[in-house]
Amino acid sequence: MEFGWTAQQQKYRERVQQALKDLLPDDWYSKYVPESYASDANIAYSRIFCAGLADRGLLVSHWPRAYGGEESEDWEQFILAEEMKGAGEPRGGQYMNVNWIGPTLMRYGSPAQQAEHLPRMARGDTVWCQGFSEPGAGTDLAALRTKAERRGDHYVINGSKIWTSYARQADFCFLLARTGAGRKEISIFLVPMTTPGITVTSFPGLTKDGHLNEVFFTDVEVPESARVGEEGAGWQIITHALSFERVGVPRYHVGLEIISLATEVLKAEGRYDDPVIQSRAGMLVANFEAARLLTYRVVDQRVKREPPNTISNVARIASLSAVNDLMNFLMDFLPDCLCGGHPLLEEYYRINVPAGITAGTYELQLDLIATRGLELPRG
Ligand SMILES: Cc1cc2nc3c(=O)[nH]c(=O)nc-3n(C[C@H](O)[C@H](O)[C@H](O)COP(=O)(O)OP(=O)(O)OC[C@H]3O[C@@H](n4cnc5c(N)ncnc54)[C@H](O)[C@@H]3O)c2cc1C
Repeated sequence: MEFGWTAQQQKYRERVQQALKDLLPDDWYSKYVPESYASDANIAYSRIFCAGLADRGLLVSHWPRAYGGEESEDWEQFILAEEMKGAGEPRGGQYMNVNWIGPTLMRYGSPAQQAEHLPRMARGDTVWCQGFSEPGAGTDLAALRTKAERRGDHYVINGSKIWTSYARQADFCFLLARTGAGRKEISIFLVPMTTPGITVTSFPGLTKDGHLNEVFFTDVEVPESARVGEEGAGWQIITHALSFERVGVPRYHVGLEIISLATEVLKAEGRYDDPVIQSRAGMLVANFEAARLLTYRVVDQRVKREPPNTISNVARIASLSAVNDLMNFLMDFLPDCLCGGHPLLEEYYRINVPAGITAGTYELQLDLIATRGLELPRG
């Protein structure tokens, strides 16, 4: 197979790279990236960075013109994602706005919701968090218990969410809550985080501060107009919304950069001549390149408007396996770097410990490949 970027795609990538050069502060890699893209400082900076991207027509270039976009092609959206991920995701949580929250509101939101939220997302000055997971409802999301009870023209929400990245700094929560007793009687609400009755508490973990929060809802009142779509239509909407995300994060892009960083350290220490290290490093590069090609197949499917199939799960497994091998490489040969010796390598390690958990666990991907791809019997 011959694969090459068109002149237009190459030009688009150069535009994005130039924007990164112009916008990122000098201490981006020394101060911000090691603190993780969900830290308070990074989220605050995302408002400045995304506004800059928006000024250059790059924040929502794939959106329809009616909402401030340029209707750029899917490959360009993916090039943007690669470059952003490679730079440590300076959009912070706003990648969710432009990738799936905005497009979901375009399709299912009321005109008032679109008028309120889409221009702010397109300007880059609004931070959202995703209120899906709960204790006891992660992979099995339909088990969620947070309740929204209708009382006349408003709802009263009670319950709690967990692992809610960016919650401390978010302006709004894209919230899933139960509006009926049936397993999938779930609705979506757009909730300002300043609404009385919402509290956020953070808890420590291997990922740095900012990712791990609990959000508590105690008699939180929201108007009926905060609901997206019909009551009980949340499951269908969320399934559609997350299909925007099925291509996933271009983990190979940053993975290859981390291999380069690690091999530079090993060379500087005079250890890179070791054939075991060299062959492990070579395998890592091959694995990430395989993940890249599989991911490109998924993007190609999307460009051709073909229905999604299990190739996206295979691509995700390939990426996660490559990340796992790279983490083992770092632990085997550069353990000191993970204890303060090299903040960028350490942050890569920390942020990737839960890589196989977020956005559909590793085991769930295998399950989907087995049942939907290979049509193996359940049980
Ligand atoms: C850093 C981080 C950030 C996150 N950010 C957010 C966020 O912003 N918003 C949000 O809503 N959520 C967020 N999450 C939550 C994330 O989506 C969940 O952790 C994930 O869905 C898994 O759910 P769980 O933690 O309840 O684990 P469980 O669902 O309990 O899974 C535990 C283990 O059991 C396995 N398992 C479960 N069911 C099956 C099955 N049917 N077949 C085979 N194996 C199975 C899983 O693969 C996993 O290994 C975040 C999580 C992390 C770690």
